[in-house]
Amino acid sequence: MENRNFAKDKIKMKKQIAILGSTGSIGTQALQVIEEHSDLYEVYVLTANDRVQELIAQARKFVPEIVIIANEAHYACLKEALSDLPIKIYAGADAISQVVSEASIDIVLTAMVGYAGLKPTINAIRARKAIALANKETLVVAGELINELARVCGTPILPVDSEHSAVFQCLTGEIGNPIEKVILTASGGPFRTYNMKQLSTVTKEQALKHPNWNMGAKITIDSASMMNKGFEVIEAKWLFGVRPDQIEVIVHPQSVIHSMVQFEDGAVKAQLGMPDMRLPIQYAFSYPDRLHASFPRLDFSQCTNLTFEQPDTTRFRNLALAYEALHRAGNMPCIVNAANEVVVSAFLHDKVSFLGMSDIIEKTMNRVAFLQKPDYDDYVMTDSEARRVALELVEQQYL
Ligand code: MN
Repeated sequence: MENRNFAKDKIKMKKQIAILGSTGSIGTQALQVIEEHSDLYEVYVLTANDRVQELIAQARKFVPEIVIIANEAHYACLKEALSDLPIKIYAGADAISQVVSEASIDIVLTAMVGYAGLKPTINAIRARKAIALANKETLVVAGELINELARVCGTPILPVDSEHSAVFQCLTGEIGNPIEKVILTASGGPFRTYNMKQLSTVTKEQALKHPNWNMGAKITIDSASMMNKGFEVIEAKWLFGVRPDQIEVIVHPQSVIHSMVQFEDGAVKAQLGMPDMRLPIQYAFSYPDRLHASFPRLDFSQCTNLTFEQPDTTRFRNLALAYEALHRAGNMPCIVNAANEVVVSAFLHDKVSFLGMSDIIEKTMNRVAFLQKPDYDDYVMTDSEARRVALELVEQQYL
């Protein structure tokens, strides 16, 4: 039996990757990384939520073993379009949650948006697949549960978020050296210099124009409101085992320094580079090795002015709300995440103002029952209750 497995390993040297959320910004860039290193990596699973045409094109190009569309209404279309290829086709969220435990998979890249990432990530950890974690909401919602599960199963969680990849890179070779502080950089987003009056009238079109990073709609709105940075503070706590007071956010509009770590001797290590997500994606795949990358290099003759500012939690209340959720712990981050998903969607449909998003999140935090030690079922219940409350608050604005 052992010999047979060994022989199989020898034949299948390429790492088999499952990309959950392959048609999104991270997913498509992950496919570019795999294409550039096709001698090392192979696509085993592709999944998408709704974008069936993009998924079909990806499947035809990469010919994975399995393709799944979450929205079951697209199943027939997907099956028909790929009928000439030897690909297994499934539909539905349950199929995505189950596929991650397939024996051949080495790495699961969690690149779907929001709370939907929780269940498949839990299953992938249980199946001991290396997790390339791009879905930060998983750690925001249930960081304690995920960490404990990963510890028990011995499953590595490799950050894909650029800030956390930067911290992770700074920590390489520092085993046993205590962290004094993690310093997360923030671009400040498109409204960094806006006053309250200007913020009260900003539109989704303005919010969707991020100065430095090209990302999906949800995370771009989160970046404009700084909820993204708040979530990254929570994510940093669980990934690096630091206390809330050891996590600092600094606004660095040029996005050249991707984040930093300060050690107890006062040394600060930073990771710098072009703002290109292909680097953190590739590093999560190749860790602890570094591989060649073909994208542009940092040109120091061009970045002559690196600046730093304190974040303003009066104008960007979401950052303060996220810190509050982190301090209150329990199911509070789960409540904030659910309320945020509701208000971001409402903002994208012109049903709530930019500043109104924070009001509704704060009210939801005060209305949903607080649980100090939630289990998985409590998180599921908290998520649906917080969504119900936040949605009701969105609708009440018009009464
Ligand atoms: Mn980030």
